[in-house]
Amino acid sequence: MATISDASPSRRSFLSGLTATAVLPAWAGAVPTDPDVVVVGAGSAGLAAARALIAEGLSVAVVEGADRIGGRAYTESETFGVPFDHGCSWVMGPADLPYIQMARDWGFTLRNHSGAGEAFFVGDRRATAEESRGYDEAWGLIDSAVDRAGRSGRDVAASSVVPPDLEFGGVVQTWMGPMDWAVDFTDLSTRDVSEYGSIGAYYMIREGFGALVARLGDGLPVRLATPATGIDWSGDGVAVETPAGAIRARACVVTVSTGVLRAGSIRFTPALPGWKRDAIDNLPMGLLAKVALQFDGERFGLGANQWLTYRVPNELPAEACYFLTFPFGFDLMIGFIGGAFGWSLSAEGADAAVDFALGEVVKLFGAKARDSFVRGHLTDWAANPRSLGAYAAARPGHYGARAELARPVADRVFFAGEAVATPYVQLCGGAYLSGEAVAREVAATLA
Ligand SMILES: Cc1cc2nc3c(=O)[nH]c(=O)nc-3n(C[C@H](O)[C@H](O)[C@H](O)COP(=O)(O)OP(=O)(O)OC[C@H]3O[C@@H](n4cnc5c(N)ncnc54)[C@H](O)[C@@H]3O)c2cc1C
Repeated sequence: MATISDASPSRRSFLSGLTATAVLPAWAGAVPTDPDVVVVGAGSAGLAAARALIAEGLSVAVVEGADRIGGRAYTESETFGVPFDHGCSWVMGPADLPYIQMARDWGFTLRNHSGAGEAFFVGDRRATAEESRGYDEAWGLIDSAVDRAGRSGRDVAASSVVPPDLEFGGVVQTWMGPMDWAVDFTDLSTRDVSEYGSIGAYYMIREGFGALVARLGDGLPVRLATPATGIDWSGDGVAVETPAGAIRARACVVTVSTGVLRAGSIRFTPALPGWKRDAIDNLPMGLLAKVALQFDGERFGLGANQWLTYRVPNELPAEACYFLTFPFGFDLMIGFIGGAFGWSLSAEGADAAVDFALGEVVKLFGAKARDSFVRGHLTDWAANPRSLGAYAAARPGHYGARAELARPVADRVFFAGEAVATPYVQLCGGAYLSGEAVAREVAATLA
C-alpha cells in the first residue's frame, strides 16, 4: 500500500479540494446495487476511501453495520448538553491533514492545543518546581530511550528499555502507554513509537471531531444498519454478504477494526491466508476509554483545556485516570483510563468507572468535590461490537504486521483504517489518509 509520503501533493490537494467542496456525481448518495467496489465500514477510512474512489470514476457502495456513520469518531450532545466526543477529539497528524481544511471550510471551531498547560500533582498538592523538573526529565529520558531502541531496529517492549528508578518514571509510562497508545508499557512496541510520523497539527474542535467526520458522509452512498457478515472472494470479484443480501463487486475495501476482524464476525470464503490472520493477531486492540465528569461550575482552581495528571507508583500498571480540564470552558473534566486497567474497569461498568474517576478528583481536591459533581459517563469502546477496543497496537516484535495487514488479498480484498495508517497509526486523520491511499491502489489495480 502506498503511504502518504508517496502521494504527490497535487493529487492530494485535488482530493482534499474534492472533499471540502463535495463535488460528487449525481448518483452519489444512492447506493448502487452492482458497484465496482464495496467499502465495508463508514468510519474515517471508509468515507475517505469512498470519496476518493468516486473521484477516480468508480462506483461505490458503503455498507455500515451501525445506524450512524463515523465509527470511532462520534459526537453527541444529549448526555451533557454540549458536544462530547466519545472517540477521537484531537485533529492531529501532518500539518496538511485534509480534516483541518475541511473544518475551516465547514465553519468548525479549531483550537490549537499544542503546548497545552499541565497541572501536575504529587498527592493532594501541586508539584514543586523541582518535582516538575524531575517529571520533565523523566519524559525526556524515557521518550528518547524508546525512540532510540526503535530507530536502531529493536522491536521490543518499551518497558524493557526504560532507564530504571526514575522518580517520576511511573507517570510517564502511564501517560505514554495506557493513555496514549492504549496499551501498558509492557505491551508497547518500540518500533510503533519510533516509526510514528511527526505531528504538525494538533487541534481541539469545539463542535466535535465526530461531527466533522459525520459531515464527510454527506452525499455518499452509505447503507446504514447493514453489517457485512461475510466476504466471498472465491470467484472473480467479491460478494459482500449482508442481512439484506449479497452485493457483488470487482473489489472490496475492509476498514473495520482489528478487534472486529479478530472476533470473526465477518466470515471470509475462502478463509483469509495465514499471513493475514497472523497480522490481525499481532495487532490487537488496545483500550482507551473516556470517563467524563460534569460539575456544576466548580473549576478547582484549574484553567480550561489543561491536562491534569498526578504521580502514580512506579510499579505498573498503575490505576490512574488523567484528565483534560473543562474543554472550551464546558463544565466537563474528561478522564482517560486505558490499557489493562481500562479494560478491567470498563468490565466493571459505568458506575464503577465514574466512581473511580470522581474518587481521583476527590483525592486531589478534597471531599467537597463531590458536592459539585453533577453526572458522569463512561464510553463503551471495550464492549461495542463494532470496535471491540479503541485502536490497534502492534505486539512488541511485530511492527511488520501493519504492512502485512495493509497488503491486499488476491488483488480484490483491500484493507484500510487506523491499524494500517503508517506513519499516523491509531489516528482518525491517519485512517483518512489510509482510505485515500487504498483508493488509489484499488483504482490502479482495477484499471
Ligand atoms: C477513546 C478514543 C479516543 C481517541 N482519540 C483520538 C484523537 O484524539 N485523535 C485521533 O486522531 N484519533 C483518536 N482516536 C482514534 C480514532 O478515533 C480512530 O483511529 C479512527 O476513528 C478509526 O477510523 P477507522 O475508519 O479506521 O475505523 P472505524 O471508525 O472503526 O470505522 C470502521 C467502521 O466499520 C463499521 N463496522 C464494524 N463492523 C462492521 C461490519 N461487520 N459491517 C459493516 N460495518 C462494520 C463500524 O461501525 C465503523 O463505522 C481515538 C479513539 C478512541 C476510541
